[in-house]
Amino acid sequence: MPDGGQPFPALVLNADFRPLSYFPLSLWAWQDAVRAVFLDRVAVLNEYEVEVHSPSITMRLPSVIALKDYIPTARRPAFTRFNVFLRDAFTCQYCNLRHPAPDLTFDHVVPRSRGGYTVWENVVTACGTCNLRKGSRLPRECRMYPREMPRRPTTWELQERGRAFPPNYLHESWRDYLYWDSELES
Ligand SMILES: [Zn+2]
Repeated sequence: MPDGGQPFPALVLNADFRPLSYFPLSLWAWQDAVRAVFLDRVAVLNEYEVEVHSPSITMRLPSVIALKDYIPTARRPAFTRFNVFLRDAFTCQYCNLRHPAPDLTFDHVVPRSRGGYTVWENVVTACGTCNLRKGSRLPRECRMYPREMPRRPTTWELQERGRAFPPNYLHESWRDYLYWDSELES
């Protein structure tokens, strides 16, 4: 079962049969999936063994559904902490170590107190230690340069990054529709 999630979620694919999102993986609660089936907004591609009953009908819960209408992906990804971490692969841009998200923060390459803006091009993922060490100094003052010059990623790039982070839980019926970097070959 997904961490803290509802049982029997449905993997949601776009009309081109690619997941709406890899990270977080696009999942709907079974109630929403069933509702969408009845509204004829999705096609059911795979099902769980489990059935739900109402007075008039019995149906198996969908495990993979595809939208009937294609949703175009946003060209510009949202500038959020999560997306900054994802762009940087959850890796501190100064010490080059990967950390769990709660241990990460974001760092202004040019500190705000020195006129730096909070924009894709000036914000990088940093661990608490490096963030503290850098303080309000410029990179050349502390010789701390980000590994990669920060820039705004495309939605496609973020989607690709997400493929490096398969979730802990994957129902076997989902695997045919997902392409992870670390493939589930075993
Ligand atoms: Zn660090």
